[in-house]
Amino acid sequence: MHQEIQGKSIARWMEEYPIMKEIAHLKETAWINPGKMPFEKAMQNCPLTMADVQDASHRLDRFADYFKVAFPETQATGGILESPLKAIPHMKACLEEDFGCAIPGDLFIKLDSHLPISGSIKARGGIYEVLYVAEKIALELGLLKAGDSYEVFHSQKFRDALSRYSIAVGSTGNLGLSIGIMSAKLGFRVTVHMSADARQWKKDMLRSKGVTVVEYESDYSIAVAQGRAQAQNDPYCHFVDDENSQTLFMGYAVAALRLRRQLEDAGIRVDDRHPLFVYLPCGVGGGPGGVAFGLKQVFGDSVHCFFAEPTHSCCMLLGMATGLNSAISVQDIGIDNRTVADGLAVGRASGFVGGLMAPFMSGCYSLEDGRMYRMLAQLADTEGLKLEPSALAGMYGPVLMANDPVLCAYPIPRENAVHLVWATGGSMVPPEEMRAYYAAGKNLLD
Ligand SMILES: *Cc1c(COP(=O)(O)O)cnc(C)c1O
Repeated sequence: MHQEIQGKSIARWMEEYPIMKEIAHLKETAWINPGKMPFEKAMQNCPLTMADVQDASHRLDRFADYFKVAFPETQATGGILESPLKAIPHMKACLEEDFGCAIPGDLFIKLDSHLPISGSIKARGGIYEVLYVAEKIALELGLLKAGDSYEVFHSQKFRDALSRYSIAVGSTGNLGLSIGIMSAKLGFRVTVHMSADARQWKKDMLRSKGVTVVEYESDYSIAVAQGRAQAQNDPYCHFVDDENSQTLFMGYAVAALRLRRQLEDAGIRVDDRHPLFVYLPCGVGGGPGGVAFGLKQVFGDSVHCFFAEPTHSCCMLLGMATGLNSAISVQDIGIDNRTVADGLAVGRASGFVGGLMAPFMSGCYSLEDGRMYRMLAQLADTEGLKLEPSALAGMYGPVLMANDPVLCAYPIPRENAVHLVWATGGSMVPPEEMRAYYAAGKNLLD
């Protein structure tokens, strides 16, 4: 660790930011963002707005006719990919008993784990970016006119046209699954560069759908860099840049418009007297950052968003707390980026997201893998919901808001709080793999 970052040694950074020492020692760490601004003020320097979220939402609406024919399982929701919002009172009671604390307010879960097509939050941004590219090409080729039903994308003519183009992406697994399935269905040639964390079943599933999977021994950053390099010299190849893509980000942000409807329909109020606290598992940051951005556009100062990460991969916490964003990685301070939460196994956060979201986020926290396993088993037992480990990172947030000295001090009263845990993946995990996760959690609870 003799390396310097922005002209200072790591030791010097640690003196200035003692929180870095906690992080380096793999301690569970919580951080409140001192740079958070009132919403109106934060928007003054923000290049993206609600209009961008609306634009993405309209694009997804245009593709609804396509989804109804290409993925019949989406017919029930009119070709819109959306996940349920659910109250989880039994899990709340379980957490209160386990941690011996009362959690003021109500506890809900957003089941992106059950999104159609790819069973994770990546079905938002990943699929959206592929649709964005397909629409652009179809318009450029003159295949599509304003007002046409997008059902035509499910035709041999369109698939043949798109087969001259390719899509590439680097992923820890779930993004690859979303991009791969969607691209192959539309007729694109598609290559997914998978990091060492990616589960075998995800690679197998993609190959079964005609996707080219390239495997790496190294972690996510390398898989992304390789994918980017291979796409660079090919004008017919679109690289989905998980670290920098605004398109991806906007696909995630649309979730907020949908959630507003769901909360209204359920009679759940969100206003300054009924604050909404949202806990988002964070890898590179695009998914949770995009969702948080959308939520801020919809609910302004009434929503409070937190990123949740494994202690071994807390790159966003590290980047935001030091202000270094993507200029620092967990490896720079001696952390290995190894976690059971494969969807969160990212050592260097997106600089784009870290920078853009700096005035909007309420804070970050890290938690140990063992907690994710435990809560995985508890959620299955109390609510019958089976999620992958990554998706449980948010579940610790409501507990920390009630019993952690740092987060307790967050200056918003909680007695009417709505706590929303964003469950980011799990419904497509093969049963035998899920049984192993559950057994590991049960083992820790005994
Ligand atoms: C990708 C992923 C996340 C985090 O999304 P990022 O955009 O990488 O921050 C969280 N949970 C699961 C299950 C994921 O697959």
